[in-house]
Amino acid sequence: MIVAIDGPSGSGKSSVAREIARRCGLTYLDTGAMYRSVALACLKRGVDPEDADAVADVARCVSISFETAGDGSQTVLLDGEDVSAAIRTPEVELAVSPVSANPAVRDVMVSLQRAVGKGGDVIAEGRDIGTVVFPAADVKVFLSASPEARARRRAVQRQGGNLATGDSVAVDEASEQEILADLVRRDTYDSSRETSPLRPAEDAVRIDSSELSFEEVIGAILALSPDLGARAEGDAS
Ligand code: C5P
Repeated sequence: MIVAIDGPSGSGKSSVAREIARRCGLTYLDTGAMYRSVALACLKRGVDPEDADAVADVARCVSISFETAGDGSQTVLLDGEDVSAAIRTPEVELAVSPVSANPAVRDVMVSLQRAVGKGGDVIAEGRDIGTVVFPAADVKVFLSASPEARARRRAVQRQGGNLATGDSVAVDEASEQEILADLVRRDTYDSSRETSPLRPAEDAVRIDSSELSFEEVIGAILALSPDLGARAEGDAS
């Protein structure tokens, strides 16, 4: 079974997809981490993210892989090096938009993603999973939330809290505003690019998580497919 979760930055896709993967015994595929890894590889090599040909060469020659621990946490490896933290910096966040808008980069990443899907039982999250990568996915969700709700979640996460688990912390208003501006910038870039713009697949179920708890979002997705629901029921935890 293939589950596709798309949506803008900070909509909660990653936490939700990771948890469903754990409960339903699916492989979790974080496609954003792949584009971030290419962006980081460009920065490390001194390649300008706007230099389309040079960036495409980087995408073709790097090796990106994932390691999943027993608790579901994932390590991202770029050419064998753990870059899980390095791909989340503001520098990478700035570089990733032009890198992911590059059609040649997308070709390479989509092939890698489909190769993972061949093994079956995958939940993939990103921007173009339901539209391009797995158009025949068994379950397609477009998860969104208001920009303010998304910025708040990211700000809490950066301070070490997690609104998904109710683990809140105080956040500084200025940094929340900065995060909001970055989210809006990336959404605009992702939605207006020519290749695979961020948009819901026609047959995707849209869920707005602004006013929903983490469990409510998970429940809404599990309810979309008897197979998914049954897998989650069989979850030992
Ligand atoms: O999901 P995340 O914020 O980690 O994604 C980082 C960036 O990668 C996004 O802003 C977007 O530009 C790009 N991306 C994409 N297609 C995907 C996943 C991510 O273009 N399937």
